[in-house]
Amino acid sequence: MTLSGPVRYLRGVGEARERALSRLGIKTVEDLLFFFPRRYEDRRTLTRLSALVPNTVVSVVATVVLFEKRPTSRRGLELATALLSDGSDVVRAVWFNMPRIEDVMTPGRRVALYGRVEKRGGLQLTSPEFEILDEDDPQSVGRIVPVYPATAGLPAKWIRRIVQAALAEGLSELEDFVPLSIRQKYNLAELSVSVSELHCPQDRKTWLAARNRLAFDELFLLQTGLLLRRQRRVGVSSCRSAALVGGDKFRSFMQSLPFQPTGAQYRAIREIAADLASGTPMHRLLQGDVGSGKTMVAAASLLIAVDGGVQSAFMVPTEILAQQHFFQLRKTLSPLGVSVELLTASLPTREKKDVLEAISSGAARVVVGTHAIFGSRVVFNQLGLVVVDEQHRFGVLQKNALQAKGHSPHVLVMTATPIPRTLTLSIYGDLDVSVLNELPPGRTPVKTVHLRFSRSQMKHLRDFIQDTARRGRQAYWVCPLIEESENLDLAAALSRFQALQGELPGLRVALLHGQLSAGEKESVMRSFGAGDIDLLVATSVIEVGVDVPNATVMVIEDAARFGVAQLHQLRGRVGRGSGESLCVLLTDSPTPEGAARIEAILSTSDGFRIAELDLRQRGPGTVCGVRQHGVTDFRVADLARDQKLLELARREAEILLGEDPELQTEPLLRKALMSRLGATLELAGTA
Ligand code: ADP
Ligand code: MG
Repeated sequence: MTLSGPVRYLRGVGEARERALSRLGIKTVEDLLFFFPRRYEDRRTLTRLSALVPNTVVSVVATVVLFEKRPTSRRGLELATALLSDGSDVVRAVWFNMPRIEDVMTPGRRVALYGRVEKRGGLQLTSPEFEILDEDDPQSVGRIVPVYPATAGLPAKWIRRIVQAALAEGLSELEDFVPLSIRQKYNLAELSVSVSELHCPQDRKTWLAARNRLAFDELFLLQTGLLLRRQRRVGVSSCRSAALVGGDKFRSFMQSLPFQPTGAQYRAIREIAADLASGTPMHRLLQGDVGSGKTMVAAASLLIAVDGGVQSAFMVPTEILAQQHFFQLRKTLSPLGVSVELLTASLPTREKKDVLEAISSGAARVVVGTHAIFGSRVVFNQLGLVVVDEQHRFGVLQKNALQAKGHSPHVLVMTATPIPRTLTLSIYGDLDVSVLNELPPGRTPVKTVHLRFSRSQMKHLRDFIQDTARRGRQAYWVCPLIEESENLDLAAALSRFQALQGELPGLRVALLHGQLSAGEKESVMRSFGAGDIDLLVATSVIEVGVDVPNATVMVIEDAARFGVAQLHQLRGRVGRGSGESLCVLLTDSPTPEGAARIEAILSTSDGFRIAELDLRQRGPGTVCGVRQHGVTDFRVADLARDQKLLELARREAEILLGEDPELQTEPLLRKALMSRLGATLELAGTA
């Protein structure tokens, strides 16, 4: 039982170090085995002292000739110097404030050192790592050396040693949860060999095989877990939803549309209708780039629910978006005799009371709102469908809270952040997916330009906005996000607003930000929607969902501060009608990363390509907006590069569960699932 035993079990781990390790999430010997290096240093080649070159990093082996330690003229700074010889030359090594180094660097001892060569008068090694050669096995010289994520209180050398101890004690106890047939089919490297190889690599080739093996394990485990969850949901007989079939109201809605739905929209509606009619709870993801027309698909689903005689909820991440959807839906649904209500946190108490009343009595058939919809005081009469817009803005728990309000309602989640397939599979692996891969016809692509902030450029820009207004079109001016502080955001937006108001006489300029009251936001957005405002200066509150087709200019100030997905969303606010649109990215002198993001946005308007870039640049957590309970916090797997491996893992998980739905022949896999993903995926009771 060494593996599950506490790290303290290992020699050299006392109470203090145990605490430091636990800060890294390492509690057991097994945790330590799977605590992999962040990178490696190739120290296979030893350099002769006579061959040292300044400003290089070298491994050397030498004998200590002389050692001395003395205070320097700077108070509190102590300098230790050793003279080293390897027969070819004599070179100095120095350390500052290195306690007890005199116990190691005793003359006559053979030591291995690794560090930087500097020219200080003569050549010297500055603060090299060192190791006594005639003691334990050499760990840090003459081989590829692992570098672990650093933590205060844990010297790198010590972590390496303790990992070695864990390997020696625990490696043989590791149980391989990947079914033998799969290991053989893909000729996967052996588990214990792979773990050991990742800590002490022999060479690039064996390391790669080991790395892929361990990445496969992680992906396979997650896919099996997700599929198991989905199978459970579908299979449990008590988990039935109302069978909903579209009728008169749905048909009237489809006939009253001011446009012809795209083929993709039709297809998505058909898929959703089939789910709703099945009586099994729908769990569907509707993916579609900005402007692909998801709202209309959502509205069609709501109407099927209305015809089916149940209430439905439409949840969105911001108040502005809630209001926009509410007004649009009310406009189309009221004539059909369907009552729509709006529920947001900032609703005045009186009105809120009425709305809550209408929801619980069942008078409200469709409820549009922010997360306020899942407040504890909200009681639905008969909730049958939940639609979540811009789902990446919500945490998983919030969605669950809303689902809990109905008797297994059908669930449709929509996202405009196009998610690469790797992420879709990892996060939504248990959902069915509909994709709107087609934009409504007649859209002209948004032209995107990058301008450096300068007096003359600003003048040009203002002239252009003047001209846009003269042509009856409208513009947005988005001010930067400053260090996540809403007050500073506001100050920046406010001063830009005042400046532009002065500089653009005759133009109707308005300001929108998150701290306006709901009523104020509503009135600004309404005026903008009605064309009564020429230029809307805003913080990034307008990032998601806002739909004003007459707006054709989007200026993003300090654009390099935004992430690519965010820039793509902002740009998506224009180009929604037939008018030619322009997106201006204004920057000062961006950081290299910022410049790369600008470059990415200039290079493509394909949301899926942009999402891939974002994934590569910033990792999965940020692509989704929320850390989805950490399911993508892999230790080895990397969604940006392991797409093939992921598909493989998915396929094998499908085959396996198809043959053995309860994993009865794979007790080790069941055990691993429960211990690693049980809580995250709410699998309790499954295995
Ligand atoms: P998103 O997918 O970003 O949520 P919206 O649903 O807001 O997109 O739609 C963007 C705009 O396109 C809206 O003004 C909407 O009325 C319009 N639209 C949606 N579908 C079509 C269509 N099939 N033909 C023409 N315009 C459409
Ligand atoms: Mg939308």
